[in-house]
Amino acid sequence: MISFLDLKKINAAMREELIESCTRVIDSGWFIGGNELTKFEAQFSTYTQSRHCIGVANGLDALNLTLRAWKELGKLKDGDEVIVPANTYIASILAITENRLVPVLVEPDAATYNLDPLLVETAITSKTRVIMAVHLYGQLCDMTALMTLAQRHNLLVLEDSAQAHGARHAGRCAGSWGHASGFSFYPGKNLGALGDAGAITTDDDQLADTLRALRNYGSHEKYKNLYQGVNSRLDEIQAAMLSVKLKYLDEQTQLRRAVAQQYMEGIRHPGITLPLAEGTSAQALESHVWHVFVIRCEQRDELQRYLHARGIQTIIHYPVPAHQQQAYKQWNNCSYPITEAIHQEVLSLPISPVMTPSEVESVITAVNNFVSEA
Ligand SMILES: *Cc1c(COP(=O)(O)O)cnc(C)c1O
Repeated sequence: MISFLDLKKINAAMREELIESCTRVIDSGWFIGGNELTKFEAQFSTYTQSRHCIGVANGLDALNLTLRAWKELGKLKDGDEVIVPANTYIASILAITENRLVPVLVEPDAATYNLDPLLVETAITSKTRVIMAVHLYGQLCDMTALMTLAQRHNLLVLEDSAQAHGARHAGRCAGSWGHASGFSFYPGKNLGALGDAGAITTDDDQLADTLRALRNYGSHEKYKNLYQGVNSRLDEIQAAMLSVKLKYLDEQTQLRRAVAQQYMEGIRHPGITLPLAEGTSAQALESHVWHVFVIRCEQRDELQRYLHARGIQTIIHYPVPAHQQQAYKQWNNCSYPITEAIHQEVLSLPISPVMTPSEVESVITAVNNFVSEA
């Protein structure tokens, strides 16, 4: 069986260090808001070339609290519009509606799956205040174009970097482009904790200050509450685990790139579209961190069954778009053809830093031998 992502094997390589760090926290007797969090926040802000990193409980809260902070700071109000790609994971959109802001779903670029700056521009109205730039599958949006657009229309940019730790565009990494950026450290993300965790990065001192209060009941100072905040904290054990894992992130990204490159060179099938099919270049391969390796096939479900029968585990990111979910009944009749086609055709092949070249070769052979019965 070739598993989609073998977290046991990934973590086994760092087992001793993880246990040592865990022991250190247990022995310290301090579990929330201590040295481990401060240390990880400093390391991750350096890693993302940002002034501040604010640890929170998960990636959804990172996005949610940033929008909330902008409301508290008077930069947003109920009913303001947030432009977001229609094909994103639902968490991006939940953060918007949770804040009583209005998501404006925009079709992605069909080749990169990321926001198309031209379509973003046509979606801007007098109520637009934010562009949520989701770096889907591990590749940055065209941030040069989006930042120019945002500046021209006086918009805030919130990056959703949950899938893009360390990814770059024009030499700058995820988390350093927008006015703020949300990260998830869910275990299966490229930088994953051993439980839930998330963070916001930003260069804005005032925003960072507000976020530090919001995550802690709205309090900057014990028993003084400026906001009706929440409890969303990155605990000491998870912070310590993340400090260990961050050291290996770039090395692991290189290993993911090697897997991606082997797929790119090996998969040859007339019915299958590879990622970045139109713009494959050494530079594109360098900037992508391959959170997932997504191919497209019209007979996707059949291909998935075929691979499964040969012991290859695949996942669909994602089977149902947000506008077709029961949670957003009000949009069920809306039509986003590019997004709908993506959800019907995408399939994520196994990719991880611990996959061996022979495992990748087996996947390539199986994919290339796929013959549709339909
Ligand atoms: C994982 C993910 C999130 C949410 O992160 P959690 O830590 O699971 O809350 C948000 N956006 C995207 C694009 C994600 O992939």
